[in-house]
Amino acid sequence: MLVQNSLSEVLQAREELFSKTKWTDPTSQLQNRVKGEELSRYFLLTDSERIGIEETIRLLVSTTPYYLSLSDPSDPNCPIRRMIVPTADEAVFSLEESPDPLEEERLSPVRGLTHMYPNRVLLFSNHSCSVYCRHCMRGRKVSSSDERMEKSDLESAFDYIKNHPQIEDVVVSGGDPLNLADNRLEWILKELNEIPHVKICRLGTRNPVTLPFRITENICNIIEKYNDDNLSIFCNTQFNHPKECTKEAKEAILRLLKVGVSVGNQAVLLKGINDDEETMLTLHKKLLEMRVRAYYLYDPELIPGSRGFRTPLARGIEIVEYMRGKIGGMGIPHFVNDLPGGGGKITIGANWYLGYFPKTRQHAFRSAVTKKIHFSFEPIGSDKESYYPTISEEEWERMKQT
Ligand SMILES: *Cc1c(COP(=O)(O)O)cnc(C)c1O
Ligand code: SF4
Repeated sequence: MLVQNSLSEVLQAREELFSKTKWTDPTSQLQNRVKGEELSRYFLLTDSERIGIEETIRLLVSTTPYYLSLSDPSDPNCPIRRMIVPTADEAVFSLEESPDPLEEERLSPVRGLTHMYPNRVLLFSNHSCSVYCRHCMRGRKVSSSDERMEKSDLESAFDYIKNHPQIEDVVVSGGDPLNLADNRLEWILKELNEIPHVKICRLGTRNPVTLPFRITENICNIIEKYNDDNLSIFCNTQFNHPKECTKEAKEAILRLLKVGVSVGNQAVLLKGINDDEETMLTLHKKLLEMRVRAYYLYDPELIPGSRGFRTPLARGIEIVEYMRGKIGGMGIPHFVNDLPGGGGKITIGANWYLGYFPKTRQHAFRSAVTKKIHFSFEPIGSDKESYYPTISEEEWERMKQT
């Protein structure tokens, strides 16, 4: 049952929840997760959120007390809140949406493994997470107990990898692999470490953001044990907003760095949450301070109920364009679109290149710093002149004026 509490009741409920949770104990954080309709005790809900919670077509709704504590109980536009609490948009299935827009199932030779690129695979280790993100692209997996990966499923996946020597890089994702029991994660890393052609393992986890205390000493020891000459372990996480860059998150990242794990960020571009230039710039500046490098900025996928989060494609291009020149390159993500129908990822960037003027062998560029047009020369005798889009005489004259 949804309740309708006053602000003081909401604040008191939060107070009680936070004090009964053993704050830095990941088990206690998970046990005290707030689920589904219980969210109404911790927020002053809008009508849209009430509909969202009651009718969401993405089944699971849940947050850790830690992540809840970053959210605003009374402001429905709070970015953290928007990632936790469903709205009415989430109850609507648009015709252009699909539970599996990337056709990962079609590209899955064995249960839980997607082999799209020759040298790398995506392995689903489990279907649980610390927080169920409203914008999750894996909604069809993380919300369903039919998707549970048994030990035997993982064994078949390892056999497949063993039998395909071209596979060098295994992305372990889910769900969230850090929501596995320590010994299960250890077994997965050990198996991957023992396959001679697998050189790279990437752990895709949002725990540094949603439950940083999960990066325990024991987990770090396990990772360190298998992060060796045979296998290089990376972590890709997902910070979407500067409010997520807390002291606790930073400490978790530093623990990973200490065991030799390089941490990258894969943000998702989300309408009303981080779809403006300054928020995204601040986020990536804070990430660099936490020693997290930018990797991707994803355009949200066309999963059911995603309409509330999608921005025009141009937004991502404009944001990344704005960042160029204002932050070091290691803080600028690639704006990525994972093509529907199993086309894989492509990057889309700002167009700094304006074209080629063959008569003087000159290229024209737009500068991110001066905002003016700058020129440079193609080498004499180049055999690539036909590669470039040509600038007409008329356009060239115009460019020279500016
Ligand atoms: C994203 C993805 C990968 C990894 O892609 P990178 O561009 O190397 O990060 C691998 N396999 C599948 C199916 C993916 O969706
Ligand atoms: S942690 Fe990742 S897999 Fe889990 S709900 Fe969030 S986005 Fe989805």
